[in-house]
Amino acid sequence: MSSKKPSKSNPDKHNLNTRLTRIGNHPLDFHGFVNPPVFHASTVLFPDYETMRTRNQKYTYGTRGTPTSDALCEAIDDLEGSAGTVLVPSGLTAVALPMLAYLNSGDHCLVVDSVYEPSRNFCDRVLARMGVEVEYYDPLVGADIAGLIRENTKVVFTESPGSNTFEMQDIPAICEAAHEGDAIVMMDNTWATPLYFKPIDHGVDVSIHALTKYPGGHSDLVMGSVSANEKCWKQLIGTHGAMGLCGNGDDAYLVLRGIRTLGVRLDYHQKSALEIARWLDDHPGVSRVLHPALPGDPGHEIWKRDFCGSSGLFGMVLKDATPEQAGKFLDALTLFGLGYSWAGYQSLAVIPNLSDRTIAKEPTDGIMIRLQIGLEDTADLITDLDQAIKTAGLG
Ligand SMILES: *Cc1c(COP(=O)(O)O)cnc(C)c1O
Repeated sequence: MSSKKPSKSNPDKHNLNTRLTRIGNHPLDFHGFVNPPVFHASTVLFPDYETMRTRNQKYTYGTRGTPTSDALCEAIDDLEGSAGTVLVPSGLTAVALPMLAYLNSGDHCLVVDSVYEPSRNFCDRVLARMGVEVEYYDPLVGADIAGLIRENTKVVFTESPGSNTFEMQDIPAICEAAHEGDAIVMMDNTWATPLYFKPIDHGVDVSIHALTKYPGGHSDLVMGSVSANEKCWKQLIGTHGAMGLCGNGDDAYLVLRGIRTLGVRLDYHQKSALEIARWLDDHPGVSRVLHPALPGDPGHEIWKRDFCGSSGLFGMVLKDATPEQAGKFLDALTLFGLGYSWAGYQSLAVIPNLSDRTIAKEPTDGIMIRLQIGLEDTADLITDLDQAIKTAGLG
């Protein structure tokens, strides 16, 4: 039964959508049932004292993994090409855990200025208090990051495209400079998922996902994952264990189920978002669309070089809008929900908070709106956006 198991020494060479229907699945281990069962577990019994003393069995305690969490980690390892993956209770914990795993008091940490806002809050509140010096850098720095790396720089944290402002980072160039200086590179890869960008193949050491987003895909769970290459795996799993972190079985099951349809969902999100982005780009009420897959976007060349797809989240600037008009626009939308998070089946709109930025600052040509394009029909979404822009008295 395990001969069908894809592994690093025997990788499954099928195309992506085929692999998504198989990875992490071992039906014959579970009487042939297609999906793995959900294990609700704390205690795991040992057959005798000697086995207990040596902990010489595959599962030892609920927080240290179950067949359900293993199935999901195996699937993520397959997609990421990582040496190992751990599950954590949220995407934000997936950012915090590797920071805590690799940083010590006195270290210097470079964090991209367009980082997800709660990640920045973690750095400023927790890392700073630990005596880690956090420095925010320009998302467009590229190879020039070499000039920012010091003797005590241990981590370079990347996120590409950047949260809300969607700058593309030159990940291979950053990795080269960071490794030259013996720093570890982490990447929050939530936007692209491992389907559209493979951080570890591009030199990243630790790849981070909010599984809450596309892998979950239905706005009904929160979970995160951290995947590491061979060099970083031991320290990651050690810290994960020391902190008692784990992902719960029910949510791991739902994420694994979401992964089966991730390819077809992302394909739809991608196409619909691009069509809407192009339409908005031509709209007189919109001064700019921030979407790296649009040919005019400043990050387009990097996106085209490194990524093999784009997802359904992008930004636009409502031209010369006042905050009141932007509020009116949001209130006039009927299909776009007003809410945080993204990557579910329902479209969402939000005015992101960019006030914490020191480099990748707020637009001056209007009000920034972030759109998450869900799985509705594209034409209905365009009609909704059009009427809302008009209702707000813009364009
Ligand atoms: C949502 C998000 C997270 C955090 O995920 P949660 O599960 O909501 O904590 C981290 N990074 C990025 C880029 C995100 O969009």
